[in-house]
Amino acid sequence: SYFLPILGLLILCGTLVFWLMLKRRSPTEELERALRDGEFVPYYQPIVDADADRWDGAEVLVRWRHPVEGVIPPDQFIPLAESSGLIVPLTQALMQQVRRELSTRLGQLPHGFHIGFNLSAAHCHDWRLLDDCREFLAAFPPGRIILVLELTEREPFRATPHTFRLFERLREMGILIALDDFGTGSVGLDYLRHFRVDSLKVDRSYVAMADEDVLSQHLFDNIVDLAQRLSLTVIAEGVETPAQNAYLRDHGVHHLQGYLYARPAPLRDMLARLKSPPSRAASESRSACPDL
Ligand code: C2E
Ligand code: MG
Ligand code: MG
Ligand code: MG
Repeated sequence: SYFLPILGLLILCGTLVFWLMLKRRSPTEELERALRDGEFVPYYQPIVDADADRWDGAEVLVRWRHPVEGVIPPDQFIPLAESSGLIVPLTQALMQQVRRELSTRLGQLPHGFHIGFNLSAAHCHDWRLLDDCREFLAAFPPGRIILVLELTEREPFRATPHTFRLFERLREMGILIALDDFGTGSVGLDYLRHFRVDSLKVDRSYVAMADEDVLSQHLFDNIVDLAQRLSLTVIAEGVETPAQNAYLRDHGVHHLQGYLYARPAPLRDMLARLKSPPSRAASESRSACPDL
């Protein structure tokens, strides 16, 4: 007589558990949902030409504006996007959004402003990249915006003849290539011999030590020397203090990016920042955080 009610209860519980399992999304499904819902948004961090005291361009740094968790930094979802194959659609969506929002505020950007995107290795093998870049640039008068692709030295992609050809095509379109996080990876100098880049972004870890210990200074000076011999632009990442700023400038590095000048921010905030010259922005941020 108890058999039927208990069986009924078991079936009910089973169904409930099954339903809950279906409802709970895997992290990858959560990324897919966020992509569909447009939760990945561009932040911009300007890059300074300190010599000319002008804003040279900006790097696009993606953020996940999660409805519950708030703003999530890229380190927490880019690796999963890469391993799940979502990085290409995510980057495409980001490029489209940047293109859209820049075209409405173009009047507020200096002519020839550089816009840099971080590319994952998977995207570098993908011929869709050519169309993505072409579509991005088509939204602006020629030369109005210079597109920069940042490739990290941290996880260098296997460069095949196929990717060489792809990147030659990109360079023919006037797109610049930057080697990001330079000094952290193992691409070696041979890479630079085969793969043409326009600039080196010296990793923040070197910049942080540049005004401190002599060994780092030697390493840093050597990178700058190498870059200059190869006619590459050197960009220092993560410039936080006036002392670092002074050291860099005394050692021939004029392209600077870091909290001292501006933090990554939505377009509107970056545009507000661009209204005063970099030197003013730096002294203002210095007085805003005296411990820097
Ligand atoms: P990255 O390309 O080397 O970007 C520079 C990182 O340094 C950014 O971190 C930036 O916020 C941070 N930074 C800038 N100035 C300073 C400073 O003065 N002090 C300190 N402590 N940090 C500074 P973020 O935005 O968290 O991005 C981390 C990494 O995530 C990026 O490193 C890049 O490798 C990756 N990433 C960001 N956006 C994208 C994207 O759209 N696609 C891909 N594939 N990777 C991305
Ligand atoms: Mg970068
Ligand atoms: Mg970097
Ligand atoms: Mg870095």
